[in-house]
Amino acid sequence: MNEKIHIRTQAADYILDSLNRITQNGFVAYNLDGVITFFNDRMQEVTGWHESEMLGKPIKDLFLAKEFKTLANGSDMVSYAVTLFTRDGKQLTVETRTTSILDADAKPDGYLTLFQVESYNKNLDKAQSEFISTVSHELRTPITSIKGFAATLLQQGNLLDEEKKKKYTKIIKDQAERLSRLVEDLLAVSRLENRKVQLTIHPMNLKPMLESVSEIVSSKYNNSHKIDIQCSEMLPNVWVDSDRLEQILTNLIDNAVKYSPQAKLVEIKARTCQHNGSEMVRISVTDFGIGIKEEDLRKIFTKFSRLDSPLTRVTEGTGLGLYISSSLSKLLGGDLTVKSEDGKTTFSLFLPTKHHEGGTIWWD
Ligand code: ADP
Repeated sequence: MNEKIHIRTQAADYILDSLNRITQNGFVAYNLDGVITFFNDRMQEVTGWHESEMLGKPIKDLFLAKEFKTLANGSDMVSYAVTLFTRDGKQLTVETRTTSILDADAKPDGYLTLFQVESYNKNLDKAQSEFISTVSHELRTPITSIKGFAATLLQQGNLLDEEKKKKYTKIIKDQAERLSRLVEDLLAVSRLENRKVQLTIHPMNLKPMLESVSEIVSSKYNNSHKIDIQCSEMLPNVWVDSDRLEQILTNLIDNAVKYSPQAKLVEIKARTCQHNGSEMVRISVTDFGIGIKEEDLRKIFTKFSRLDSPLTRVTEGTGLGLYISSSLSKLLGGDLTVKSEDGKTTFSLFLPTKHHEGGTIWWD
């Protein structure tokens, strides 16, 4: 081992060992030449580098060199963000604080840098990178298609007949709309997860909204399905934010049509019921389509979950709709459940019938 790494005083050793046991932060000690002399447990956990790989190595190997110069310029205490290199090739930006380690004669003997990684969570990091990779994948398909057809129109536009030109322009428009829906869904997820959804709760008559959403969805699919709406007599008003409710109903009715073959029936029923000890209105949307297997029922409410089936493969979707609908229904003080058996799938949306301030979402 490099001689220089033995420069720490015994007292400093004990202090660093004790600090290592009590802190959730990472820290690294290094001598005046920038050679690492102490690499604590938390740093090993966060960066993936083992102590044995780091001791004796230059500190500048751990983060950007230009930042190291600032650290070692003799100032007593500096704090700023640095970019750490992890063992698996990732870069992590963290806040640091650096101070000098003094020897018995109060002369600088080295440096101690604290990396503020107390809230760093490896699982969160993994979830984030999975999210980025899924989003990139979802973006790539429409972008490739837009680029390809735009290039064809540009290069061979004069040679194409009117019908082909129209067809290609329509593909570009459809794919741009798909991109825009994906971006809207991503923004909705981000607003929900950052608790930035503003609600305006007011009493609302459900029937006109059920009718208008059904009509919009039906015309989107060229009236390929029969949508039947039954509301019980004397249905009380529901206390909701109407924009959010429209978003949930559109998702449920759209899915019912999308995941069942043409000419099938979609049934929508609204009636009062008791749910979790309160009077609520239950809106059930039933279809007779591809169904959902028992083991997949929970999965469909998570982000980007699309179940594999021949129909799902040919239908467009982001896999974000039910995640958003389920979160929004909780924010509206309600609930969203699903049941699928004997070729019949029913999503039930429960909504409050009394004044309330909005509900809370608990994420796992
Ligand atoms: P998307 O429809 O955009 O894929 P959703 O979050 O709305 O996303 O739905 C998630 C998945 O749940 C769908 O991809 C599909 O596999 C399944 N699903 C949703 N609704 C139904 C339904 N009515 N019948 C069968 N499967 C469904």
